[in-house]
Amino acid sequence: MKAVYSKLPLHPNLSFFKSHYHQTPFLHPLTSLNSLLNCSRTSKHATQIHSQLITTALLSLPFLFNNLLNLYAKCGSVDQTLLLFSSAPDDSKNVVSWTSLITQLTRFKRPFKALTFFNHMRRSGVYPNHYTFSAVLSACTDTTASVHGEQMHSLVWKHGFLAEVFVVSALVDMYAKCCDMLMAEKVFEEMPVRNLVSWNTMIVGFLQNKLYDQAIFFFKTLLLENLTALDEVSFSSVFSACANAGNLEFGKQVHGVALKLGVWNLVYINNSLSDMYGKCGLFNDVAKLFSNTGARDVVTWNIMIMAYVYNHNYEDACNSFWMMRRKGSIPDEASYSSVLHSCANLAALYQGTLIHNQIIRSGFVKNLRVASSLITMYAKCGSLVDAFQIFEETEDRNVVCWTAIIAACQQHGHANWVVELFEQMLREGIKPDYITFVSVLSACSHTGRVEEGFFYFNSMIKVHGIYPGHEHYACIVDLLSRAGELDRAKRFIELMPIKPDASVWGALLSACRNHSNLIMGKEVALKLFDLEPDNPGNYVLLCNILTRNGMLNEADEVRRKMESIGVRKEPGCSWIDIKNSTYVFTVHDKSHEKTKEIYEMLEKLKELVKKKGYVAETEFAINTAEEYKEQSLWYHSEKIALAFGLLSLPAGAPIRIKKNLRTCGDCHTVMKFASEIFAREIIVRDINRFHHFTNGICSCGDYW
Ligand code: ZN
Ligand code: ZN
Repeated sequence: MKAVYSKLPLHPNLSFFKSHYHQTPFLHPLTSLNSLLNCSRTSKHATQIHSQLITTALLSLPFLFNNLLNLYAKCGSVDQTLLLFSSAPDDSKNVVSWTSLITQLTRFKRPFKALTFFNHMRRSGVYPNHYTFSAVLSACTDTTASVHGEQMHSLVWKHGFLAEVFVVSALVDMYAKCCDMLMAEKVFEEMPVRNLVSWNTMIVGFLQNKLYDQAIFFFKTLLLENLTALDEVSFSSVFSACANAGNLEFGKQVHGVALKLGVWNLVYINNSLSDMYGKCGLFNDVAKLFSNTGARDVVTWNIMIMAYVYNHNYEDACNSFWMMRRKGSIPDEASYSSVLHSCANLAALYQGTLIHNQIIRSGFVKNLRVASSLITMYAKCGSLVDAFQIFEETEDRNVVCWTAIIAACQQHGHANWVVELFEQMLREGIKPDYITFVSVLSACSHTGRVEEGFFYFNSMIKVHGIYPGHEHYACIVDLLSRAGELDRAKRFIELMPIKPDASVWGALLSACRNHSNLIMGKEVALKLFDLEPDNPGNYVLLCNILTRNGMLNEADEVRRKMESIGVRKEPGCSWIDIKNSTYVFTVHDKSHEKTKEIYEMLEKLKELVKKKGYVAETEFAINTAEEYKEQSLWYHSEKIALAFGLLSLPAGAPIRIKKNLRTCGDCHTVMKFASEIFAREIIVRDINRFHHFTNGICSCGDYW
């Protein structure tokens, strides 16, 4: 035998094999081949060794055959494995070979193939062992048809493995993943012996099936059974369950247990703990954990960034992102989408482009979630062109990408594009979601497409199985109101199958203001005062309606009421970016060092627009005595920002302003005139939408 092996011919071009072979000249060829199989890592080497085994007729030796199977598994070459397996004679395959194949097929998400080979194996007279069952039970889970799992359950019983904790845990996991927690619990209860894995399987199962209280209950029982046995899986699952169940009290107790056992500082546990505090709104606890923790991974950073986002602290969300980069953590899709979300909310275009550069370098630009966030970021920062470019460059776009670009067009007032894109999306077979319809319906309402609006609204349930929410009903109310059909809008609200909320009534109140409908306006305002007594916007709208109808005393009364219950109009603020710096202006702002020039510019602007036929719309000047009304309008923050922009930006450059409230009618008129007089594009992003002013016209069509 030995002589035969030592004369084995070498396969030509086996450079890798040769070099290895020459380095170890005294090894027995069998041992040598086997050690090669164990130390190789690439599929190229695997094929080289494979051909050597074929030439030397050694493939029928089960241990070499199994190791070659393992090597292909390590290289992820599932097709090669199948080829090798099918071409090999049955006598070289033992239970290890079959199990190795089934495990690999399961791992590469080919559950039906795995089940087929399991049946082959049984037919060829090889008995499954507990590893085989554990692998094939995972395959059953992946088929998503519980019938396979149930059949396997009876086979486990037949082969007498129901006392094997390893197999039965896999069985519990299978039932949990198939959403049958009753069966999972039954199998668990009947287990003669349980270990931590079986307990964790139950806790994770409850968590995945959103049965948070049961997950917590099982954790409590486990605590009573054996305190020291808890591991990372038990802790992180129970923290997640507490976060979702809103059971902060128990979560804090478990935090105490983790401290006692000294495991809280393990990254995995610490992350789920921070996540729990974040979801329960305890921002300070998240920050404390973050600063105390030594080991931070990308998830730790993401939780911190998300906590800032959750608290609307977008500046610090961005700062954390850059700090994460400086500390050497590699961002993932969640980090990128949170930081882009923050840039979008800050309208920080420059910072957004810096992050875009990072994304290109890291290769995440192909990631659909990141691409969608980029689209939204560019759109919200005012650059629809860049948003479109990202959209065009993205391959295999999903509903999130489509919805992002559709919403972008909607915010920028391109209602026609919204409908076109939506139809194109349907033609490409993408199923719209809840949010897509909000954009589509509001586009219809902005362009007065009453019939189309109703058509899409009705298609939501009938065609797409999506139940309309308050946002959609508010769009329809807006649609009817714009068309002047206020009575029909009111009837529509009264017939809604869900209780109308403030957004729906608010749409009608805006309509009453725009159509100066005093009677309905008063009635709707009263409903809104009930629904959201603290929202100053409703009082202001009612004041506007009363003023327009000449009822100045009643308007004053509403203002007094507003003051007496302590509702204050949020002070207006406008931001403008000049050369990578952001300047903020409030009403009557005189804090800027160029205040003198700014106010001179405002005077000049006033003269110029008056020549063009501007008349002050004094109804927008509230809380001011009659004779000062016109003057006070000229101190609105967006006008001050505009004057500063005109002073500081080069001629012809677009002016981008962001406002924290809805922009008023008078400022809107002045912006229109200014865009014509100075031949500049002016972009104002207010709380609701974008206004693109060019040549004296606004993209919103004067309806916002
Ligand atoms: Zn204004
Ligand atoms: Zn506008």
